[in-house]
Amino acid sequence: MKFYSTNNKNHKVDLRTAVIQGLAPDNGLYMPESIPVLNQAFIESLSTLSFKEIGFEVTRALLGADLPESELEKLIDHTLQFDAPLVELESNVFTLELFHGPTLAFKDFGARFLAGLLGYFAKEQNREITILVATSGDTGSAVANAFLNVPGTRVVVLYPSGKVSVAQEKQFTTLGGNITALEVKGTFDDCQRLVKQAFLDVDLNQKFFLTSANSINIARLIPQSFYYFRAYAQVQQTAPVVFAVPSGNFGNLTAGLLAKRMGLPIANFVAATNANDVVPEFLRTEKFNPRPSIQTISNAMDVGNPSNFVRMLDLFQNDFKSLTDLITGFTFTDAETREAIQQVYRDNGYILDPHGAVGYLGLTNFLKSKPHPGIFLETAHPAKFADVVEAALKNKIELPERLQKFMREEKKTVVISNEFVNFKHTISNFK
Ligand SMILES: *Cc1c(COP(=O)(O)O)cnc(C)c1O
Repeated sequence: MKFYSTNNKNHKVDLRTAVIQGLAPDNGLYMPESIPVLNQAFIESLSTLSFKEIGFEVTRALLGADLPESELEKLIDHTLQFDAPLVELESNVFTLELFHGPTLAFKDFGARFLAGLLGYFAKEQNREITILVATSGDTGSAVANAFLNVPGTRVVVLYPSGKVSVAQEKQFTTLGGNITALEVKGTFDDCQRLVKQAFLDVDLNQKFFLTSANSINIARLIPQSFYYFRAYAQVQQTAPVVFAVPSGNFGNLTAGLLAKRMGLPIANFVAATNANDVVPEFLRTEKFNPRPSIQTISNAMDVGNPSNFVRMLDLFQNDFKSLTDLITGFTFTDAETREAIQQVYRDNGYILDPHGAVGYLGLTNFLKSKPHPGIFLETAHPAKFADVVEAALKNKIELPERLQKFMREEKKTVVISNEFVNFKHTISNFK
């Protein structure tokens, strides 16, 4: 498969280049040059297949020419170590639980697929790959856990000292092995600046094969399409389904569009956002007006300039009509989100996290006018946002065992100042 840049369809690269670069040199996002349609027999047999079988078939259709079948199997095996179960909350309202991975959010899927692929490229070129990530919390934990013990890779996580929650910090500072956490005496912006400067530094680039694990990487998008197929397999209906996706950068929704293009019977998408409603507004007015983000209780969706929007436009060749025929936008306030958490707990005994609650609201509002089986994505475990959820329910919620386990481990970090010389010196001494 070749990948083109959304800024220039004639700029095409192979999988390896697209994955190692992340962003195209012209700042475009990479897209597959063609999207294969899976055969009807595969779609009809979904409910008889395992999650790994589904992931394997989808990946083989897209990347079958790019890596040997045995490597493809290893990649899927590394990625899909946990399921995405579907739970029926009310008649025809389902939640797809994407939080069964090590860091309790859907970003584990993308990070693990990327880790597996980079591990393969490292082996192929016989050179260790060093991944630099600046994090304000969640990206660092998903990436670090995904790369843990992947041969040929080393991860350096930079995070602002004292500015991430203890639970987040424990998830990437307790791992050891090929994961190093640098605790920077500064801000998240300092961490990002240090990483950017490292990519421009001649000495560091000579000594290390550096890459990032940026969220716009095409390798993080592809595996997110797997669980749309897995969800459909569990609905046990042949009618087209509606997916409601709580969205920030719109990677998750874009992966759903990819699944539809590959042949999955999806009737509609609901783009559900918090107060950061740039895309719902666009779907209403055809005006795209990015602006600074607003802080909300579903903070992983506090995005004022959604990076995957260009991929959505690209998939529809900028045709506003066909885009709005398929995707409907909804936006919800924090008060509405809290009420949804309370209502679903009261009516169904199910605890939503604030992001899933936005998805739930989008779905149930949409289904009022169009009755269909509907699925909303529950993107994180409620315990990840315990403060918000406990305040809404006026009740304590339980931490899952895998989160408790991190809390018991000891933090190991290297403390550095926010000056580049200090950072460079520290990592230059890595063996
Ligand atoms: C990242 C994230 C989102 C937003 O997903 P996008 O792909 O950026 O739209 C939603 N919920 C949670 C919990 C997240 O971590």
